[in-house]
Amino acid sequence: MNRLSEGNIPVGPVEMVVLQSTSFCNLNCSYCYLSEESRRNKSAMAISTIETIFEKLLSSRYVDKTLRVSWHSGEPLILKPSYYREAIERILKIRDYYCLSDFNIRFDIQTNGTLINQEWCDLINEYGELLTIGVSCDGPASLHDLYRKNWSGKPSHTLTQQGMQLLCENGIDFDVIAVVSPESLEHPVEFLEYFSRFSKYIREFHFNLHDEIFIDSEDSKKIESYANKYDLFLRSLLNEISKHENKKFPQIRNFSIFYNMLFGEANGRQKYDARSMSKPFKTLSIEANGDLTTFYAGLTVDECKDLKDLYGDGKGLVVGNVLNASLDEIANSTKLQKIASDFEASHRACEAGCEYFNLCSGGYNLIKFRRFERFNVAQTPECLIHVKTFANTLLSHLNESN
Ligand code: SF4
Repeated sequence: MNRLSEGNIPVGPVEMVVLQSTSFCNLNCSYCYLSEESRRNKSAMAISTIETIFEKLLSSRYVDKTLRVSWHSGEPLILKPSYYREAIERILKIRDYYCLSDFNIRFDIQTNGTLINQEWCDLINEYGELLTIGVSCDGPASLHDLYRKNWSGKPSHTLTQQGMQLLCENGIDFDVIAVVSPESLEHPVEFLEYFSRFSKYIREFHFNLHDEIFIDSEDSKKIESYANKYDLFLRSLLNEISKHENKKFPQIRNFSIFYNMLFGEANGRQKYDARSMSKPFKTLSIEANGDLTTFYAGLTVDECKDLKDLYGDGKGLVVGNVLNASLDEIANSTKLQKIASDFEASHRACEAGCEYFNLCSGGYNLIKFRRFERFNVAQTPECLIHVKTFANTLLSHLNESN
């Protein structure tokens, strides 16, 4: 269902609200997308801000029947379990006031896992299905600790692994997000094998490529060699999974999304195409100070410092602040409509010029702008790696297995 803003851009419904409870982090991972200044800032989102957000949202026309609330960005477990208990209870109270009984709300927390203790496990078990947790772990210590260190340079793997083990001992299912570094590309079996020990408890497993290595490069040989390594990495994962049919590996979401795009029934399947993924208001990301971005993650001022003046207000892609603007004002703002139309120009260029369009979840609009200073262009090195290599490898593996 689309809510039309007073302009003509379909807005919402909101499916997910990402809350930055704090930008502070106890780790200093070398690939982190947040600045050091932000990760050392101890301020937290006030509970009153959370109340304002959900008062505005749940009383609005921008929600449908489901909503996911996710604490992500910075290390959420820096704050106490009592903070999240209070936040959840206040949000549920607001839900009970504004929403019908069939309204479905879920909460999750994405953590680096190093601070998980019994108190956190008790909180998660207290809320059952309502609250889930995701852990960021990059595989065995030999891969994880290359990048994931604390501020004194000490590795974090032991603590992250202890956190995951404690979740298992408490019977808690969890999600995993893993970053695949250039070194991990060389060790696909060790990477996958590591997570298989937690398979019983891993609900969803997703990996992201850490690819700054080629992002800064215009060197086509370097990009091609990276694509070849990625192809081999993917093939090894797929072969390993097919070779050991009786062994339980975590379900790899990157693969299941792709198969769903290929084989899912058109009517019932979730849409992962670029246009659907970056629909205004589908996701709202709200920083501790109330600044709001939408379209997709990674658009905060801190993450887009180089694009601060893109829309002439010094605020990058931020479309408003929930503390001093209504959702209608934000949805109908000239700035949101301008960003949406820039992103749509990018999708149209993809649709017209790229044969992978139907298999691409996109998200490269700003990368295109950074590279070419315009949106209406298709094909970046990121497309070659993330979309084309990925799709080609999975398709050829499917063909070989049939
Ligand atoms: S692969 Fe690149 S050019 Fe092709 S549809 Fe995706 S973003 Fe557009």
